[in-house]
Amino acid sequence: MLSLYNSLTRRVEPFEPLHPPKVGVYTCGPTVYGHVHIGNWSTFVAADVLVRWLRERYEVTYVQNITDVEDKIIRDSQAAGQDRKTFTDHWTKIYLDGLEQLDARRMIDHLPLATEHIEGMVAMIQTLLDKGHAYMAEDGSIYYRVSSFPTYGELAHLDPESLMAGASGRVAADEYEKDQVADFALWKAYVPADGEVWWSPAFVIDGTAQILDGRPGWHIECSVMSMKLLGEEFDIHMGGEDLLFPHHQNEIAQSEAATGHTPFVRVWLHRRHLRVDGGKMSKSLKNFYTIEDVIDRCGPDGPASFRYLVATSHYRHSLDFSWSAMDRAHATRRGLVEARTRFAKLAEGAKASTTFQAFEDRFTAAMDDDLSTSEAIASVHDAVGEANRRAHGDALTPEDAASVVALMDRADRVLGLALKEEGPALSSEVQALLDQRAAARASRNWAESDRLRDVLRDEHGLVVKDTSNGQELTKA
Ligand SMILES: [Zn+2]
Repeated sequence: MLSLYNSLTRRVEPFEPLHPPKVGVYTCGPTVYGHVHIGNWSTFVAADVLVRWLRERYEVTYVQNITDVEDKIIRDSQAAGQDRKTFTDHWTKIYLDGLEQLDARRMIDHLPLATEHIEGMVAMIQTLLDKGHAYMAEDGSIYYRVSSFPTYGELAHLDPESLMAGASGRVAADEYEKDQVADFALWKAYVPADGEVWWSPAFVIDGTAQILDGRPGWHIECSVMSMKLLGEEFDIHMGGEDLLFPHHQNEIAQSEAATGHTPFVRVWLHRRHLRVDGGKMSKSLKNFYTIEDVIDRCGPDGPASFRYLVATSHYRHSLDFSWSAMDRAHATRRGLVEARTRFAKLAEGAKASTTFQAFEDRFTAAMDDDLSTSEAIASVHDAVGEANRRAHGDALTPEDAASVVALMDRADRVLGLALKEEGPALSSEVQALLDQRAAARASRNWAESDRLRDVLRDEHGLVVKDTSNGQELTKA
């Protein structure tokens, strides 16, 4: 049985779906205004592993939103001289490419854009107005009245006294600190700095309809998109630990006050921060890395090695990223790929024995124990070590080899480590180079043959070998 650490109760609890076998999962996606850094990627990868593991038992609906209207987007799209949509379309595409590279796209059922749900946001804000949880400020913005929600602060375990001290003011910014607890913006009145970004919905305020030009606050976006796609109560909400306050606290306050249903979300999961070289990652320290940097360093299978690195630490522990740790993860994962290829060759046609069942049981128990991926990976390494020892003494039967391969394939399915050695996919461009090279060799033009070999290596990361069966390709 799966147990998960719930940030709301601060306990590891048995996971029981609200409507088994269905499970609803929501992860706060990126604000699309620039490259997603590896810290955020580590959260999206952890969420992907959660969903992969849940799917072994449940019918999961997995939603990850895209925030395409927000303070930073308006600021940076103007600086780039682009309208909001052009700007966010560009960064959304780069984000989706990253998800593909990390093999973290397949699990997601819905990727809603905030701007496609403005109507739902207006409706929820109206409900909050009607129920006395929201009010209009002098400038035509609408704020959430924190004092109207008695359990505000519960998720972040805020001290009620400091909460009372801070709760008098208002905060218009989407992001703020715990000591700035205040009424937060649901609808932000238009200001000239917003440029072309506004909507003109009608709200009924104190019985009077009013058009309020403006845009939604960030927090209301997630409440609306999650409940629209998963229902007013759902199972699991995940995000980076930086979102716990105020974002997730505000989602709870908005959703529960609007629907009257408690709890809005049963289990809150938070991925700890990733640290770079033992410290905080930031643009100013120039240690702000992206998945492109990982590919530049490790090659096209670098993202799989990044997933391996993420899986070697528990999601509630901070992950120490450094390029040497990345290199080690890459080499270790490739070692597993080679081991799997060897065992698969030996296992060809054999039915898996139960010899390595104990390792697989360990894998399952580890994943069920609050997603202890590091322990799950350790069980795979131990199984591989044992299989190698047996193979060394000629005591590894094809059936045993099949059993190890089965465990590795399961780990691969759950953790997404790309352990199966696949011949590199040949693009038409690569195929053309191979054809040209075959022709060059047939006419004994060795210089041209060598030149094409170098092009394949330098531009496509492929090593070509000439064998009795013709040219064979492996990844460089
Ligand atoms: Zn969110």
